[in-house]
Formats: sequence, C-alpha cells, structure tokens
Amino acid sequence: MYKELTATELADELERVRLFSPELTGPLAMLDEASLGWPRRYPQLAEPQRAFSQARHAQWPRTRSEETWRQVVATASALAGALRELGDIDLERCTEQAGWGTCGLTLSEDGQCSAAQEHLAPTVEPGSVR
Ligand SMILES: [Zn+2]
Repeated sequence: MYKELTATELADELERVRLFSPELTGPLAMLDEASLGWPRRYPQLAEPQRAFSQARHAQWPRTRSEETWRQVVATASALAGALRELGDIDLERCTEQAGWGTCGLTLSEDGQCSAAQEHLAPTVEPGSVR
C-alpha cells in the first residue's frame, strides 16, 4: 500500500514512473494520492507535489502528448528528490477512528490532526473516569 511507504520508498516508486507506460494513469493517481499527505507535514514538498499532481492530470487520454509525459517523468523525479532530502522517514498518520475507518490523515508537526472534529467519540465504559 503506497500510503505506508517511507519517504525513500515513495521516492523509489516515483522514480520508477519513467519505466511505466504513458497509458497507465492508475499508478500515477495512486502516487499522487500517496504523496498528497506529505506536504501537510513538510511544507517544502508542497510545490513539487503540486507540480506532479498537475502533470499527471494532463496525462489523460484526451490531453496527453509526448510533452505531458515528459512533464510527468520530470515532476515525479523532482518530487522524489525532495522526498529523499527528508531521509528514510515515516509519515506520522492519525490513528483515531473516524466515520470512514482509521482517520489516516497526516499529523502536523505538533501532532494535531486537521480532521479532529471528524473523529468518533471514544467509546467509554459506563462509570469509567477519563
Ligand atoms: Zn485524525
């Protein structure tokens, strides 16, 4: 699962993009989603992540060309480079329960979840004190 990759593992996947077939947009969408959480914690990744996201959106059958594919490969590689600068780290994700299952959003530097209001109330045993 892409979401559990460390920075280095995700960078490896992004660098493999050049070996993909340009017709395969599914893996690009997954890599986009997998990398989306990182800028919440590491703002320096916002720009390369946005560039990759834009490039892969231009890779749909009706709009793609050699130029859009070149952009996908270049932006994936730039994002991989930015991820590698972080070292081989895990992204800390929220483990609270939310309506959709485990919350899974990236925690901010001080451990806050941006979807805290969506968390389900913890089930409290009657009579227990929290
Ligand atoms: Zn959360």
